[in-house]
Amino acid sequence: MDKPTVAVIGAGYAGLAAAVELVRADVDVTVFESSRVMGGRARVVEKDGLRLDNGQHILLGAYTETLKLLRFLKVPPKRLLSLPLTLHVPGRLNLRAAALPAPFHLAAGLLTCRELSWADRLAAIRLINYLKRCNYALREDFPVSILLDRTRQTPLLRELVWDPLCVAALNTPAQEASAQVFATVLRDSVGASASASEMLIPRVDLTELLPVPAGVYLGMHGCSILTANPIKRVVRMEDGFHLEGDPNGLARFSHVVLAVAPYHVSGLLEGFDELKQLRRQIDNLPHEPISTVYLAYDKSIRLPEAMIQPGGSMVQWLFDRGQTTGDDGLLAGVISSAEAHQGLGRDELALQAHLAVERVFPRLRPPQWTQVITEKRATFACRPGLSRPLTITPVKNLFLAGDYVDSPYPATIEAAVRSGLSAARQMMRTAGISPQNPL
Ligand SMILES: Cc1cc2nc3c(=O)[nH]c(=O)nc-3n(C[C@H](O)[C@H](O)[C@H](O)COP(=O)(O)OP(=O)(O)OC[C@H]3O[C@@H](n4cnc5c(N)ncnc54)[C@H](O)[C@@H]3O)c2cc1C
Repeated sequence: MDKPTVAVIGAGYAGLAAAVELVRADVDVTVFESSRVMGGRARVVEKDGLRLDNGQHILLGAYTETLKLLRFLKVPPKRLLSLPLTLHVPGRLNLRAAALPAPFHLAAGLLTCRELSWADRLAAIRLINYLKRCNYALREDFPVSILLDRTRQTPLLRELVWDPLCVAALNTPAQEASAQVFATVLRDSVGASASASEMLIPRVDLTELLPVPAGVYLGMHGCSILTANPIKRVVRMEDGFHLEGDPNGLARFSHVVLAVAPYHVSGLLEGFDELKQLRRQIDNLPHEPISTVYLAYDKSIRLPEAMIQPGGSMVQWLFDRGQTTGDDGLLAGVISSAEAHQGLGRDELALQAHLAVERVFPRLRPPQWTQVITEKRATFACRPGLSRPLTITPVKNLFLAGDYVDSPYPATIEAAVRSGLSAARQMMRTAGISPQNPL
């Protein structure tokens, strides 16, 4: 049999994870990426000489596959600032998980948080116990807000703990978000161990974090990565596929891993009649936006933590890039969910972010510089019972990878990496190639 040749379309975290996994098994891979920059929805954006990200990201200690991949690529652990799970709303809440084995890390955090009443602490324990009793598997899926009602969460916990955690993890407000996916995230993070619930904030830009080391590894192992090379369509041949837009003309690939964002899938698969239903399913996925507002202040401006919640603002989180990437005075405000964006232009978003910073530093002078980056379809809206496509498709040897592919997780870097690894392993299985030892 001919040696398989695989085209990976998309050099986001999913596509790169798939390519690394295939190359590890000595499979012949070519990666096609439409942009000049790798990383997709987690990539560097250069503005006025600053290396920003298209969106401020945070990883968790629970991102086991991403962390293994980073270790495999020899990315120094210091590239991620690792902090204990901390929810800090200046003047209102300072909840910090302790460096103890689970569940004492959380119990100690709840007990030592002075802003919480006994009613708050008991309510938090009630929610965790409820989820533990059903082994984090709900009998039916419903919105997170109903889970919070059923377990009688207090207004303070809802406002300062669960609602922000839900939006941060699922990028979907609690009234609409899937309780089952939220439960899974809690199981794997706060429910697992202190290290799994650690917050990991990149100290380098998101292209430098994983895509560049992955690109180096792939390049050194003979894999071509063609950037600035959009593929227009995947076309079936008698014994494989060719790609419209491949500079090598009618080069044949035995397998294709399609690792583009869900809203780019449909156009690439137009020629496949048997995929009409799958394309409809993917096109029907709802999406949520995220805006990141960068604000440059005087270099002396430093938040009390690398990441805080301003509280009482549409800006859910503020990050201090001085404490992470070393850009002193540069703050990043994160605004998630469609509701918060309704009808607001860039200037209004920037103003809201400045007002959020002013909650921490009253009467602060306006920022010297702002930059608003809005990703309108940042992630799929993670609603109850959402139907997500599988890795395998009705077309033989064509696989899907990406954060939207069916899994117990919301759209995150970890979901993207896992989907890429899974697509690569399924490709190898169909081609009778033994996968390498897990990363
Ligand atoms: C603003 C923002 C904030 C976020 N915050 C977090 C966070 O804090 N933590 C977290 O874990 N996750 C976060 N996410 C989600 C995370 O970024 C995504 O889940 C992840 O990057 C998705 O990776 P992917 O590889 O599945 O898809 P993508 O990153 O979308 O990659 C797809 C790639 O395919 C390429 N492509 C598309 N069409 C073609 C074509 N025709 N030919 C060739 N290439 C093509 C694209 O250019 C892109 O590089 C955030 C996302 C955004 C947008």
